[in-house]
Amino acid sequence: KPRVVSGVQPSADSLHLGNYVGAVRNWVDLQDDNECVFFVADLHAITAEQDPAALAQRTRTTAAQYIAAGIDPERSTLLVQSHVPEHAQLAWALNCITGFGEASRMTQFKDKSARQGAENATVGLFAYPVLMAADILIYQAHQVPVGEDQRQHLELTRNLAQRFNARFGDTFVVPEAKILAESAKIYDLQNPVAKMSKSAASENGLIRLLDPAKKNAKKIRSAVTDDGTEIRFDREAKPGIANLLTVYSALTGRSVPDVVGEYEGKLYGHLKVGLAEVVTETLDPIQARAQELLDDPAELDRLLARGAEKGREITVRTLAAVYDRMGFLPRL
Ligand code: ATP
Ligand code: MG
Repeated sequence: KPRVVSGVQPSADSLHLGNYVGAVRNWVDLQDDNECVFFVADLHAITAEQDPAALAQRTRTTAAQYIAAGIDPERSTLLVQSHVPEHAQLAWALNCITGFGEASRMTQFKDKSARQGAENATVGLFAYPVLMAADILIYQAHQVPVGEDQRQHLELTRNLAQRFNARFGDTFVVPEAKILAESAKIYDLQNPVAKMSKSAASENGLIRLLDPAKKNAKKIRSAVTDDGTEIRFDREAKPGIANLLTVYSALTGRSVPDVVGEYEGKLYGHLKVGLAEVVTETLDPIQARAQELLDDPAELDRLLARGAEKGREITVRTLAAVYDRMGFLPRL
């Protein structure tokens, strides 16, 4: 079975709809035909300003949301990145074959560092894509399901794998990106040309998986649209409506034209009310299951410890091969 690896940062108290539609939801089906490793990317979560008091709890809530959304910790390997030290160890080795200019071209770094103010950006944020490459290569993954926003990082990962293999001998599987269609990209409700993101300036544009239905409905009602009245899919001219239609379609499994057909001739408000219902129906069962898991943190931690053990069966071997090829003196 091909091996698949993916993760989400625990950089907020809850995942948002973009993480769900663009990532976690797709992982659920991949479990049937692949050997899956899903991790909570806590090492990535410290690349921006972070709250030590919140990190552990956010790590648990993120893991709980994975399971609540349908990740089965028996069939898949579910782990916390920092529990598997080989991620960080491989990242260092890869840092040393990554060009400074190459890393400087990563658009996510440019975006995020601009948002934080260039002088606040850390070396960790700069090296983030290299750690991401390590996350993937350490498991010898064949496929990486990520949203469109990660395409460039995946390309870097492939380049680093090929470069290492050429320089030091065949070591890594060169992974394929499993980029989900453009329609899987969810935009900020308040600024529908920017992607929905945990690190967005304002939370009003985010639909969070664990937020109360009322709060989410309110955010959907106040989503930015346009001053027209026509409900049709036009990403350029009507990015707000296009986004609402995308979410509706993604959550119901119905095609966009089908949803447009239902709402054609109706008011924007009707679409918003309909979408709020769809969101509530999707999130209610996820919230209930996540709460059960969070009520028993000892059991959740036990599942994560087991996942780290399973993961290390692979990562220890990969790192040993890397160190050997790079010429490090083996420790007796
Ligand atoms: P941050 O702002 O902290 O980077 P994020 O919201 O971008 O958070 P990540 O943890 O970086 O979330 O990404 C986790 C996964 O979610 C990735 O696979 C990414 O492609 C996907 N993803 C993130 N935002 C969106 C979005 N708006 N639409 C679709 N997929 C998304
Ligand atoms: Mg991100």
